[in-house]
Amino acid sequence: QGSRDTSPGAAILEKAHLTHPDRVLWEDEGITKLGLAEFYTEISDWILPHIVNRPLSLLRCPGGSQKECFFQKHAWAGLDEDLIQRVRVGEDEAVAIQDLSGLFALVQAGVLEIHPWGSTLKNPEKPDRLVFDLDPGEGVSWDGVVQGAIDVRDHLQGISLESFVKTSGGKGLHVVVPLRPKASWEEAKEFADSVAAAMTKASPALYTDTMAKRARTGRIFIDYLRNGRGATAVAPYSTRARAGAPVSTPVTWEELSTIRSGNQYRISNLAARLLHLQDDPWGEFGNIDQVIPKSGTRS
Ligand code: ATP
Ligand code: MN
Ligand code: MN
Repeated sequence: QGSRDTSPGAAILEKAHLTHPDRVLWEDEGITKLGLAEFYTEISDWILPHIVNRPLSLLRCPGGSQKECFFQKHAWAGLDEDLIQRVRVGEDEAVAIQDLSGLFALVQAGVLEIHPWGSTLKNPEKPDRLVFDLDPGEGVSWDGVVQGAIDVRDHLQGISLESFVKTSGGKGLHVVVPLRPKASWEEAKEFADSVAAAMTKASPALYTDTMAKRARTGRIFIDYLRNGRGATAVAPYSTRARAGAPVSTPVTWEELSTIRSGNQYRISNLAARLLHLQDDPWGEFGNIDQVIPKSGTRS
């Protein structure tokens, strides 16, 4: 009895039903599967509201972030349906989780990135959030990306829409707009397209709404394509399968100017950030009641 391991790691190991807990998932950081389960346990109150009861796409990397990864949009053989649900959305199939046990099951399945739909299982055909994904082309400075996010916010504010910002965990920023689920995916994408087009028209030297690599050089691609039916963006507080074990991290508009990169927050420093925060940077996200304006973006 005296030799029984009572460390938090042992408790999580038991709860999470992990096989190969010592498998290294981020070699550069030495983060193991058990380490990932520990990370999500610590921040579960922050991430769960963004990932439960939504259709999910999953980036699975069974051998870790440096080995082969693949996007999993459907249920797979051997999945524990008590923990990960197989869901139908019209013609499409997806998976969903409900709680921390479900999140542990994702870790067990080698999921290093969680990409939810911008809609819930309750109302999957009506998006409750839009994402403007700012993708800097070659030669764009970080300050340029920050200014781009602020420009998206200001443009949206001009049509009475509040928005929130997070690091992508990669090169860019994501501006997220909470919505009352009312418009269709078709309308949501059309609206997001019109925002990207208006910004590109106003500042063609800074922005592009064209995915083509050539148009992106020196510019930010305002990727509005995250807003079509079945499209996804990485969840707030999801880890990324990239060097340094970065995490997509919500920040306030006020602190955005102090953020130095899209991958500044990582598994290794996110818990400390959250511990020292006065308020939830997205505290108002769930309280905002707004819809896409009828006439599109021209005000
Ligand atoms: P970065 O800041 O480095 O651009 P990002 O997460 O925004 O990071 P993008 O390449 O812009 O990366 O992709 C945006 C989103 O598109 C992803 O988060 C993901 O949800 C989705 N996506 C990208 N590639 C695929 C893919 N092959 N299959 C499914 N979804 C994808
Ligand atoms: Mn991006
Ligand atoms: Mn993109």
